[in-house]
Amino acid sequence: MKRRSGWTILVSLFASTLFLTGCAATVGGAAQPVDPTQVAGLAVSDGPSGLKPGVLDAGLPVTGGDGGAIDKLAANAVADVQRYWREHLPAIFDREFQPLANLVSYDSAGRGRVICGTSTAGLVNAFYCSGDDVVAWDRGELLPMLEDSIGPAAVMAVLAHEIGHAVQFRLGLAAATPSIVKEQQADCYTGSYLRWVAEGKSPMFQVSTGRGLNEVLTALFQIRDSAGVAFDDDGAHGNAFDRVSAFQFGFTDGPARCSMIDEAEVEGRSTQGGFGSAAANEEAAAENVRLDNREALSDLTTSLRQAFRLAATPPTLTTGAACGVTTEDALASYCSESNQINLDLDGLVRIGTPPRRGRQGGIGDFAAFAEVASRYTLAVQQEGGFRLDGPVAAQRTACLTGFWASTIVDGKRGSLSLSPGDLDEAIAEMLTQNSLIAADVRGRTLPAGFARVAAFRDGFSSGSQATCGEKYR
Ligand SMILES: [Zn+2]
Repeated sequence: MKRRSGWTILVSLFASTLFLTGCAATVGGAAQPVDPTQVAGLAVSDGPSGLKPGVLDAGLPVTGGDGGAIDKLAANAVADVQRYWREHLPAIFDREFQPLANLVSYDSAGRGRVICGTSTAGLVNAFYCSGDDVVAWDRGELLPMLEDSIGPAAVMAVLAHEIGHAVQFRLGLAAATPSIVKEQQADCYTGSYLRWVAEGKSPMFQVSTGRGLNEVLTALFQIRDSAGVAFDDDGAHGNAFDRVSAFQFGFTDGPARCSMIDEAEVEGRSTQGGFGSAAANEEAAAENVRLDNREALSDLTTSLRQAFRLAATPPTLTTGAACGVTTEDALASYCSESNQINLDLDGLVRIGTPPRRGRQGGIGDFAAFAEVASRYTLAVQQEGGFRLDGPVAAQRTACLTGFWASTIVDGKRGSLSLSPGDLDEAIAEMLTQNSLIAADVRGRTLPAGFARVAAFRDGFSSGSQATCGEKYR
């Protein structure tokens, strides 16, 4: 997050009044409510993900493999994703799917082999190369790390992404397309494949819409571009927010939606592109605002009061014991009787501290700020006559917190503004078990990470407070 110095606050407060009166939001047609017990129309489930028990090996030939468990998982995932495209490419794109010519397994710690002109020595990666029509993966470090630290669905997602590039190539969508567009499309295709698995249509794999998709989103988060990468850089994959968005489009709307992703569409939507040069991005991302700083708290309060114009007295931020929550570790809570938001400042500073290599850390400043903002939205909901407890309230809270984030994108309306990487911190927070951004007044989190992120993005992308009340009621 970024803060501006004192005198600009006065100027921008004045400017924001003009902005607000000049831009009263109108919303055409009431949005359809979103069922909190579902993920894009499928029931929330928490069962196992990965290969179904007792499934026979697909037996695809793999060059360079060691025949171990991770190679089997990878090769079977490739077989499954290819089956998906064999079924769907003709129906949607009127084209037969040609299977990949080559699959290569390598160990990044080994001596290396040359694939498409690149040595695999030290290459902790998975990739598609159109020259040899090959999908290759690092069985030494990348895939075992993904499986051990996240889960098998992370491995499925990475291979589905690489085959997504092969599909692009086959459809002729890859030529002269900026890197970010190709990557967004591949993430979107990953979503459409995993939808098919989640619907129970894959003979080999399963994925649960709760825990399983959380694994997928976590994988997309962990292999996002770091905040220093500008979205038009060669090789840009997108930040976590954009990657997760593309995945969700594919999961929700299918592969035809993915092919609508082009340069203009990405430019209009990308949250990575709006922040200027790579050097400026890196510098801004390195700033991290501590929430126990009195001025930072006051800026946060100002931004919330500007985003939500309450008729009643706005709640005050105070330190104190949690109020009315059922989870022990809620770092902020809204007390409707006292109209206060009680903060555990030490805890918030802890999660507001970015992780450092090899050391314990939290998430980053925006996670802490957004947790507090989420509690403020409960006062907004109360004034609007909404229930404050239950899963719908948790969804609405995530949506309104996303809306608040949209009001501080460019810092035009106040002293607080988003830095590159902030929205990724929101994603990281929403993928934790006790996300407050997507929790009701009692601190109970919406079950599926997918649904939490989708609700947050609804508020952020629409930039409309009314949308949150309409879709989440
Ligand atoms: Zn890619």
